[in-house]
Parts: sequence; structure tokens; C-alpha cells
Amino acid sequence: MRRGVTLAGLFGRVRIALTRADYAGPPTSRAPLRVEAPTAPTLAAQAPVFVHLEEEAWRAGREQIRQQLQARLDEVAAQHAATARPQCCGRRMHRHDRRRVSWLTGAGRVDVWVWRYRCPVCRAEQRPLLDLLQVEAGRASGWLARRLALFGTIAPYALAADLVRRLLGVEVNAMTVWRAVQRVGEAATQHEAALSGYHAHPQTSAPEPVAAPATVVVAVDGCALGMQVRATRRHAPGPDAPPLAPVEDGHFREVKTGVLLQPAERVEPSPGRRSVGRRVLVTCLGEADVLFDRVWAAVRERGWLGAQTMVVVIGDGSEWIWHRAARFVRRCEILDFWHAMEYAWAYARLQFGEGSQRAEQWTRRIARELKAGEVEAVLARLHTLHPRDAESRAALDALVRYYTTHAARMQYDEYQRLGYGIGSGAVESAHKQVVHARLRQAGMRWSAGGASRLLALRLYLLNGEWGETDRLRLARLAA
Ligand SMILES: [Zn+2]
Repeated sequence: MRRGVTLAGLFGRVRIALTRADYAGPPTSRAPLRVEAPTAPTLAAQAPVFVHLEEEAWRAGREQIRQQLQARLDEVAAQHAATARPQCCGRRMHRHDRRRVSWLTGAGRVDVWVWRYRCPVCRAEQRPLLDLLQVEAGRASGWLARRLALFGTIAPYALAADLVRRLLGVEVNAMTVWRAVQRVGEAATQHEAALSGYHAHPQTSAPEPVAAPATVVVAVDGCALGMQVRATRRHAPGPDAPPLAPVEDGHFREVKTGVLLQPAERVEPSPGRRSVGRRVLVTCLGEADVLFDRVWAAVRERGWLGAQTMVVVIGDGSEWIWHRAARFVRRCEILDFWHAMEYAWAYARLQFGEGSQRAEQWTRRIARELKAGEVEAVLARLHTLHPRDAESRAALDALVRYYTTHAARMQYDEYQRLGYGIGSGAVESAHKQVVHARLRQAGMRWSAGGASRLLALRLYLLNGEWGETDRLRLARLAA
């Protein structure tokens, strides 16, 4: 029996005739089994032919791009040389010197002759060609810097550099990636701060958004699982530097996170399983006011806050949340259901025993009643209980206090009917994506500035807005 097999390969289609023996596997042996020592596995002597071809084509293509880029750069430089000299102190500047300046692009290194001008009066220097191109000698180009920053936003710097080498074919090291993250991240944090400042200002008259949603949900959480932030600089500052506040080295700083979404956009992929169409993450290191300024700016910037928009704030019992939620005039405050249940569990464990069926039944009933909006009935029953010891009594008191304080934020039947949701679970998963996935790996420590820059970039990425980093104004690096 013969069977034809067509192999599509580099050299056109090849037809090979196979006999039965070729594909039927080895003949079965009736000889007794002999145990043989395994041979060491080896890799193929070389990569498949087409892998080589594709690799070669990429290299050649990159070199063509680099040459094209160099040619365009030479054109721009020639045009620029023909324009008038820059002015300073009311006079034309002198040509001081001319140097070959190079920098790294996504396709390799390019270089160009650059004139340095000097003011005859104040001695100020300028290299207007570099200003025009917005590049810096010896550094990554803006295009490459944003891509390096993207890799650095996803992976630790050394790994990011390795990915860049393999995927872009550009030789960079961890330090280059780090620098790009600082540069693009600094621009991102500055833009974010400016936006917050703009929207927080009482005289800002942002136009009333068209088609603002009827409801916006803002779930907020200060995650105790923060990150380690260095209190001291890596290098000891000079003797004249002001003393730093005596904070313990490696102190855990809280990161506060907010998730904004429109309940109208929630989709139900399968019955009972809701997933959110679009969500916007906001985060900050530490300050509650800063977080709420950012939340405020984020909803206004996206046209989500109209005069009639109901803002649903979901949070735990932390006062910092409820004090600041008052900024939203039309609002609905919801105590996160899972935090409410944690207090019930704390009492049930002590009263009925960890993992006991009684504890399970007791808390399940509480959950059912709370979801039915019967917080008053629950409270009335809690007052009739007889705790078995002092510890149990303390847990019950805490539970009663918590529910009494937040009773108005526990109308869960109503919130579900309105489609607001009752839990802030979205914040915890968001928080893990924003912070843990990148900033809390083994042995990682951050300076406050470095962490803020990276967080700002992660928000661009996770909010699906990375493309906007192209329009950030990159700060100049200190030489
Ligand atoms: Zn001058």
C-alpha cells in the first residue's frame, strides 16, 4: 500500500510516496523485553530551515529600516542647517562646535552632525537640531523608549531587556529599560497630576458631558497589601542633604485603588456570571485625597459625570472613603458585602468553633437576611445573643457596632434591584493586576517616585490606553 503526502516547504510543494512501513510504526517484537539504559536526549543539530530564513529576512528588513531612517534624518538635518541661527539675549548665537551625535532607534543606531551654538553674552548653549528632533544624545529614541517602557511595565527590568533583544532585536540592558520607564513614567505621573489639579480646581468649568451615564460605580479599597518602599535613597546623599524622615527601611506603603465602571455596560456571558465591559482603574501610593482627586478627574475626563449621574460608591468601613465620597452630590453609599460578612464570620468562629457546621449555618442565615435588606432585623437578633466568653463578646460587639454604623449602606436588596452590585471584589482583583503582578515579586523594593511612575504606566496599559503614551511629553533626563 502506498500513500501520497504533499509537503509544502521552501522549495515549492514536494510529493513524497510513502510505503506502509513508513507510517505504520515499528514492527511488534515477540522477543522478551530487555531494559536498556536510556540515551541522553539531544536538541536538533540546527533550527529548521524556515526559522533561519525568517530570522534572516527580519535582520535584513531591520537594516533597511535603519538605512531609511538615517537617510530621512540626513534630509531633515540638511534642511535644518539652512535655517536661521538661534537667538539669545537679543542676538544671534555663535556656532561653537559640531559633533557627531548618535542614539538608539528601534531599528538600530543612527547618527548625525549636530552644531552646538553658544550665546556671546550669557554663554548659554543650544543644540537646536536635537531640540527639533526631541532626541537625546546616546539615549533611546522616543519610539523605542515607549516600547522599552512597555516591556518594563510588564516584566522586571532584566527580563524586559531580554524580551526586547529577542523581539525587537535591539541590544539593550536592564538599565536602559529602567531609564525608559522613568522617563515615560515621569511624563505619565506629571500628566496625571496636572489632570487631577485641573479637575479639582473650583474654577474649572468642564462642559456638561453629552450622554453622561445614569449610573457610575466607584469601588474603592485601600489595600493593606501594599509594597515595600525604601525610606532611604540607594546611595547615601551628601552631608548637606536634608535628613530624611526616620521611617523604617522597607516599610510597607498602602496602595489605594479605585475601579470605575458603568453598570449599564455589564454583560452576562452566561447566566449568573456577570463580567464588566469596560472598567477604568485608578491608583495611588498612600494619600486618600490624591486617590479621590484622581477618581474625580477620571470620571470627569471621560464624560461620565453629568448633573443627573448617580455615583455609587462601594467601600469597606474605612472612614477615609466615606468622608471623601461626599464630594459626589448625587451618590449611593454601599458597604462592601464581603466586608460585612467578615465581621459575622469573626463572631461565628469564636462562638461556634472554627469550621463548625453551626458557624456555617449561622453566617449563611445572616448573608441571606442581609441580601434581603433586613439589616434592622439582623441587628435586633444580634442584641438577643448570649456570647459564650469574653472574646466572643468582643467580636459580637464589633459586629453590632459595624452594622449599626453602616446600616444605611446595607440596603443590599435595593442595590441589587438597581443593578449597582454589592461587593468591591473588582477592586481586589484590579489591585492584584495593577500592583502585585509587577511590583510585588520576590525581593522587590521601590522608591516612592519609581513606584509611582511604574503604577502610572501600568494604569495606561491595564486601562487599554497605552496608545496615549505616544502623546505624552517626555521630560528631559538630567545629563
Ligand atoms: Zn544669552
